[in-house]
Amino acid sequence: MKSNARKATSHKKNRVKKLIHEVYLGLGSNMGDRLANIRKAVSLLSTNRVTVIKHSSVIETDPVGGPPQPKFLNAVVKIKTSLTPEELLHLAKSIEDKLGRKPSKKNYPRPIDIDILLYNNISIKSPTLTIPHPRMQKRDFVMRPLLEIEPDILKKRSSGLGTQTSKTVNVNIPRNKSRETKHAEIMKIISSINRLRSEIALARKEEKSIGFIPTMGALHEGHLSLIRQCRKENDLVVVSIFVNPIQFGPKEDYAAYPRNKKKDSTLAYKAGCDILFYPNVHQLIPSGFNTHVEVPKLSKHLCGERRPGHFKGVATIVAKLFNIVMPDKAYFGQKDFQQLAVIRKMVSDLNFPVSIKSIKTVREDDGLAMSSRNVYLSPKERLESPVIYQALLEAKKTALAGNLDASQIKELIRRRINDTSGRIDYIECVDEKNLSPIKKMSGRCVIAVAVFFGKTRLIDNIVLQI
Ligand code: AMP
Repeated sequence: MKSNARKATSHKKNRVKKLIHEVYLGLGSNMGDRLANIRKAVSLLSTNRVTVIKHSSVIETDPVGGPPQPKFLNAVVKIKTSLTPEELLHLAKSIEDKLGRKPSKKNYPRPIDIDILLYNNISIKSPTLTIPHPRMQKRDFVMRPLLEIEPDILKKRSSGLGTQTSKTVNVNIPRNKSRETKHAEIMKIISSINRLRSEIALARKEEKSIGFIPTMGALHEGHLSLIRQCRKENDLVVVSIFVNPIQFGPKEDYAAYPRNKKKDSTLAYKAGCDILFYPNVHQLIPSGFNTHVEVPKLSKHLCGERRPGHFKGVATIVAKLFNIVMPDKAYFGQKDFQQLAVIRKMVSDLNFPVSIKSIKTVREDDGLAMSSRNVYLSPKERLESPVIYQALLEAKKTALAGNLDASQIKELIRRRINDTSGRIDYIECVDEKNLSPIKKMSGRCVIAVAVFFGKTRLIDNIVLQI
């Protein structure tokens, strides 16, 4: 009996100690003998509960953030372990202590830094531990060595290594679609307002700054430049994709507006998005919805005049999104400069605690402003459409050369566009601040145009300082 009991206990112990968990650790050092520190850390990791089974080459990288400091040496190791994530974290901290790491501010020099990057394929968010490491995919110094030893790591993780434990962050993507799951592991795609709110609350608790880019999807380089800028300036990047029905007129292209969730998620992820908010219409505009935000003075000119209710729809939804995401900074394109002015005014009038950042218009090589609607253009229309920007440039040159008569400036643009199949919706010279039409170009002013090519309405503008 006794010996059987002993056998069972020892069998149980062996089972517990079996090195079943596959884990990737990131190592970095930029103090003292950097290479020796990394070697020492690897050797201290190797215990009866941890076996190092692969390691990358050691690369030298520039520091990210923090004060001016020496370059880092970085490497990634793959281990097998019987330690739980918390036990492994404890081991990593004790090795950091042994190698002389002192508690210091974030991004300060350190003899050794050991990060748990991946632990099987589980997701954990606890006050002490976030797995996968929240910033790993943004860090070249992690991804390069990781992909060197495990080029298929993302695919592998989606095929279900290990078991899901702890607090799993649910993402509303089917788990059996490997490409999407790859994103799900790294960029969260969230459609529920409550779920987004808890992610935001968590980020706030971790004192992360939050940047936000509202879009209607069909992402192109214009949107991506906003996301990239947001990535540079914030800890957490939230992008929303919502084709907002209340900003479309009854005869406009709401139903036909291009939608491609898969492509958009890939693009957003690659540009640095952490959370893609993808609500459905009923979530943002439930039946009975009856509150609107309007900025009437700035909305009455230009596009607002031709698209009644458009800016009311935009401001209402952006206000809702600001209340949900509560960003520190929000990014908008100068291409939609009237929208930018409306949002700035709404933010200032209603005291939204968000700083509005404007990003300059991204153009195709031939000058056409990038827009999700450009895909509607026929080959002939696409060939003709750069005339808009060419005419704006010519007008700017003329004004800066001293012809300040707005009607002559507008006439010049009209003639250029009328040489093509483009149908002018409006050409206007306006004051940059209040958007009122001006007769004489002066101060900071904007020349704005809207032109139909076929059924596609394109807008563009150019800012002048006279
Ligand atoms: P949309 O998806 O059209 O609502 O646009 C979302 C955001 O992207 C808005 O702030 C737009 O002004 C901005 N955006 C759209 N096209 C461009 C572009 N070509 N360059 C810069 N920003 C853009």
